[in-house]
Amino acid sequence: MPDRMQKFVTLRRRMADKREPEDRIRDHREILPDLTPDEAAAQASRCEQCGTPYCQVYCPLHNNIPDWLKMTAEGRMEAAYHLAQATNNFPEICGRICPQDRLCEAKWACTLEQAGHETVTIGAVERHIGDTAWASGWVKPRVPTRLTGRRVGIVGAGPAGMAAAEELRAAGHEVHVYDRHARMGGLMSYGIPEFKMEQRVVARRAGLLTEAGVVFHGGRVLGGNLVFSDLQARHDAVVLAYGAYRPRRLNLPGEDLAGVIPAMDYLVSSSRALIGETAAPEIDAAGKWVVVIGGGDTAMDCVRTAVRQGAEGVTCLYRRDRANMPGSAREVGHAEEEGAEFDWQSQPEALSDVPVEVVVSRPEGFGQRGAVRTVRACRTRLGVPDGAGRKRPEPVPGSAFEVAADLVINALGFTVEAAHELTGDAVDMSPQGRVAADRETRMTKAPGVFVAGDARLGPSLVVWAIREGREVAAAVDRYLGFLPDHVQPEPQTPAGARRDTRIGEAACD
Ligand SMILES: Cc1cc2nc3c(=O)[nH]c(=O)nc-3n(C[C@H](O)[C@H](O)[C@H](O)COP(=O)(O)OP(=O)(O)OC[C@H]3O[C@@H](n4cnc5c(N)ncnc54)[C@H](O)[C@@H]3O)c2cc1C
Ligand code: SF4
Repeated sequence: MPDRMQKFVTLRRRMADKREPEDRIRDHREILPDLTPDEAAAQASRCEQCGTPYCQVYCPLHNNIPDWLKMTAEGRMEAAYHLAQATNNFPEICGRICPQDRLCEAKWACTLEQAGHETVTIGAVERHIGDTAWASGWVKPRVPTRLTGRRVGIVGAGPAGMAAAEELRAAGHEVHVYDRHARMGGLMSYGIPEFKMEQRVVARRAGLLTEAGVVFHGGRVLGGNLVFSDLQARHDAVVLAYGAYRPRRLNLPGEDLAGVIPAMDYLVSSSRALIGETAAPEIDAAGKWVVVIGGGDTAMDCVRTAVRQGAEGVTCLYRRDRANMPGSAREVGHAEEEGAEFDWQSQPEALSDVPVEVVVSRPEGFGQRGAVRTVRACRTRLGVPDGAGRKRPEPVPGSAFEVAADLVINALGFTVEAAHELTGDAVDMSPQGRVAADRETRMTKAPGVFVAGDARLGPSLVVWAIREGREVAAAVDRYLGFLPDHVQPEPQTPAGARRDTRIGEAACD
């Protein structure tokens, strides 16, 4: 073992210094800078090179982590990039936004952590490898060396659609990507806020696809100005990668009041203004009392965006406690540092257009006609665990209380848009509410029509969407007759790891 590795004995885990909260809430820029080359080499050198790399197992892309850590420690950055990129289309993106504490850096995934040392900073090193490659000019478009004459249409320009497009173009097909939005990226451009990942990071990847010859058609809506039968007629294969956008309802009296909005409407409006597509956010929290309902990462993104927009106050109501929330502990910590309030074990019961002081003195005046002014909630206690192991909240009788609110954001999670409505019954939904497809071939009941990403899995993670994009590209290639059946382009994930890590924003209640 070269003396550059196994430095965990003398060197502690260290991330780059976060920007101070009072500084970072003044803008929407990323809060974590890149590691310096020396820091990246030092942190990479902590890896034990253990020979049982569970980090690789728990990474949905099975990145060759120990090897690129070693290359980074040795300063062989170009080689590290090419190795990282061989399994991950967007290493610097995953390095920034993967919830590493649930994936490659989880307690159960790093031998160092199990031995009482802290995990290696895998995500931060992966980001450094990608950012260094961009700065050094090593990232090149994957222009095909031969053309097949086959056309593939992809609906949805999120990470699943983008990864599929890159792979299919490199395989020589003519690739067209259609999306309702004006630019590529999906939730990476219009959902995930800039303080987690700046737009330029996604935009340069989108530019690379265009340079490789992928044709992007913005402003095209499947089920609207993009008709499924036309799409089928114009392409030899079609990939549906349109994500999961239907908000779960609050199911509360007053949820249709003005000022009660789904989380995605709020985040998209903020992103569009920051990108420059609109002059100002269509939904602005500035000067408002904001209540966010939900406990997942989407709720954290809303809370932190509202703080940056200059909300008068931001409260997150969540009906379980901190230990039982679905969101990442890291993101809650960031939100608390930035001044958001968390009202744990609080369950909303109704929304009203009557100001909170009136409701308190005259509870019968709980009107529901105009714009929201008050949220009524009650306290909960936690009962027996549910099927997923999270403790079930039960309302505490007589514990009702009111919170002032003139903007209420529903961040309870999403479901997948009904495929039969978008495709004129050509494609079915599964009993679980996802686009139905064969597990192996990824093909729906319509010949030559495939599905990938959140549309197939339900709300998940960017890293899973990238994997989906790579797998569906191989399936399409095979369908078109260009990839032999015996070639398995992606290693198979052990069943346990797959189950544990792919859950994202499905249910944030
Ligand atoms: C607020 C929020 C924050 C998140 N934060 C993280 C995070 O930090 N880390 C992480 O790993 N994951 C995060 N996720 C999850 C992650 O963003 C998704 O799992 C991932 O983007 C799914 O990729 P996809 O390509 O399947 O779908 P999407 O990224 O949703 O892309 C689908 C695309 O299809 C387009 N589309 C939809 N319907 C139509 C239609 N009818 N016609 C044409 N186009 C259509 C959409 O405009 C979109 O561009 C977050 C999700 C949300 C909602
Ligand atoms: S892709 Fe995500 S899970 Fe995999 S090594 Fe990178 S940060 Fe970890």
